[in-house]
Amino acid sequence: MNRFKITELGKNAFWLRGTERDHLVRVLRLTPGDKVLGYDNSGMEYTGVILKIEDKSVTCRIISSDHPDVEAHTSVFLVAGLSKGEKMEWVIQKGTELGMQGLLPLRTQRSVMQLEGSKALDRVARWQKIASEASKQSHRVREPQIGEVCDWRDLPEKLPAGTQWLIPYEEERTQRLASALNDFDPEYPIAILIGPEGGFEAAEVVRAREELGARSVSLGPRILRAETAALAALTLVLGYFGDI
Ligand code: SAH
Repeated sequence: MNRFKITELGKNAFWLRGTERDHLVRVLRLTPGDKVLGYDNSGMEYTGVILKIEDKSVTCRIISSDHPDVEAHTSVFLVAGLSKGEKMEWVIQKGTELGMQGLLPLRTQRSVMQLEGSKALDRVARWQKIASEASKQSHRVREPQIGEVCDWRDLPEKLPAGTQWLIPYEEERTQRLASALNDFDPEYPIAILIGPEGGFEAAEVVRAREELGARSVSLGPRILRAETAALAALTLVLGYFGDI
C-alpha cells in the first residue's frame, strides 16, 4: 500500500494536498476506492480508502488506525559540523533510515561551507525534505527534524534537558564508545557531535567537554570520513541500546 504524509487529519477522514495529492493522482494514478496509508508525524498510522479526488485535495475515509513500533526507543540526535552539501544530504538520508531523531547542522571552525541567512534557511528546508522522503521510504511514522544551522553557544538549549553528549574524536586514544554508553541512560536523549571534513579543533573538543559535559570517544584507530563517522556512531549507539 502506498504511504502518504497527511496534510489534515479529522476524526473519520484525512486529506492529502500539495505534492502528496499530486503524487497520488499523477504518478500513482490511484482512484476512489483504492486503499492508502497515511501518517501525520504523531507516531500514528492510518489506513484509508480514497473517497474523493479534487483539484487541490484528496479525501480518504479512515478505516483503521495503528501505532506501529518502528521508531527507535532511544532518541539519538546527530549534531554535524557543516560539510559540503552532498555529504550532509547523505547523512540525513541514511541517518533517517537508521532511526535518528533529528539533526542539527553546526558551524565549526573548520567548516569549509558557511551557511548564513536565507541561504541557510533554504538549505535546511531542502534537508527537511530529504528527511521527509527518507522517512516515507523507510516506513517511519515520525520524521526526524532538521534544526536551523547553529553555533556552539546555541547547543545547550537546542536539545532537551538531560541530553547526554558524545563527541567522537580521532585524537581520542583511550575512551571507547561502548564504555561511555555504559554510563548513559537510554531514557534520555543522546547527541552525537561529528566534525566537518577537516575535523574539530582541539579547543572545540575541550568546549564540548566543559560546556556540554560531552564524552570524547574513539571510533577505532582508522580515520573515518565525517559522514562515515556519523553513521557508524549512530548505528553503534542505536545498536547498543537494542534499537537495531
Ligand atoms: N582531522 C582529520 C579527520 C576528521 S574526520 C583529518 O582531516 O585528518 C571527521 C570527523 O569524523 C571527526 O571530527 C570525528 O568526529 C569523526 N571521526 C573520524 N574518524 C574517527 C575516529 N577514528 N574516532 C573518532 N571519531 C572519528
